[in-house]
Amino acid sequence: MNRSARVSGTFTFKIMRESDFDRQKLIDNLSRPEEDLEKMADLARKRVCGPDVIIRGIINFSSYCCRGCLYCGLRQTNNLKRYRLNKAQVLNTVGKIVRAGISTVVLQSGDDLECGGQELCGMVETIKSFFPDIAVTLSLGERSKTDYKALRACGADRYLLKFETMNPRLYRYLHPGRDLDGRLRHLRLLRELGFQVGTGNMTGLPGQTVEDLADDLLFLQEFAPEMTAIGPFIPQPDTPLKDSCCGSLKTTLTMISLARLLVPFSHIPATTALASLNQDGQRLALMAGANVIMPDFTPIAYSSEYKIYPKTSTIDLAVALKTIQAAGRVPGYGRGDAITSSIAHKLIATIFRF
Ligand code: SAH
Repeated sequence: MNRSARVSGTFTFKIMRESDFDRQKLIDNLSRPEEDLEKMADLARKRVCGPDVIIRGIINFSSYCCRGCLYCGLRQTNNLKRYRLNKAQVLNTVGKIVRAGISTVVLQSGDDLECGGQELCGMVETIKSFFPDIAVTLSLGERSKTDYKALRACGADRYLLKFETMNPRLYRYLHPGRDLDGRLRHLRLLRELGFQVGTGNMTGLPGQTVEDLADDLLFLQEFAPEMTAIGPFIPQPDTPLKDSCCGSLKTTLTMISLARLLVPFSHIPATTALASLNQDGQRLALMAGANVIMPDFTPIAYSSEYKIYPKTSTIDLAVALKTIQAAGRVPGYGRGDAITSSIAHKLIATIFRF
């Protein structure tokens, strides 16, 4: 098919169909992307999400972690200054996010199982009682079904849990004592409980192949998460992977573009890890299919202690707004809920006229 014709007038839903991106075609694209791939993804983003870049305020509220993930600086055995914000500190920070006009807060932490379900529910309930219109996204790692249920019941709207890699062997190597099946069980459970679910991978993990990345994309297509987070792996100096190479900017952007075409209605962030990899990384992601940015609102006294990977600079709201402007887009201050399938179908029908 004539690609430029597709990109201009006759861009159709067909390009997003599974048959157009079978595993081999994904592998080919990851090795040598089609010339117009980013443009096609950008067009799909434009038609599905519009010009808005949804802003979500993130608070990294606890750096305690009971796991040993090989890539992450928060791994339990690392000797670092740990912190956990209390409810008042979290609420105070949420207040700042709300006053900036933002309608989603993301509470992220290590797998801090010592911070119990009750304590977490207390945080969510308090946020919801002060700011009932604010969407709350949690990114707390793997917890018990009881905790997930309670958190959902007290008003948490969304949960972000990346599968990281769909290669089960690589998964086991990177996450001592854990396995991919378990991770996927958690994801399915979260969806069953009614959370809008976010998931995704890291690109450029040591030993990861383009076939693995294609499998990551196929899983995304099958699971169709409401949010899709794709970020490059960045070696953290206090981890066993400190001497490994960074993920590639180009491959990460290609992954974002392919994800936009395979899961067009998912919210896709220009991840903070991309900004650490390359100064222009987030803008490029916004041009390649991404439609979300998550500035960091963690109080300054703690933000540098959240050392999952080395950060070149903090992405605060001012930086995020500059990036949005540089990408020729506008900030989106709405909740940015999942584009539900009914809206999606209507959109597809009007956009692609079938
Ligand atoms: N404990 C939570 C949150 C982890 S931090 C959980 O397991 O879900 C959020 C994300 O940061 C992880 O899902 C991972 O994809 C990313 N991350 C961690 N270490 C990283 C590194 N060294 N390079 C790039 N991304 C990293």
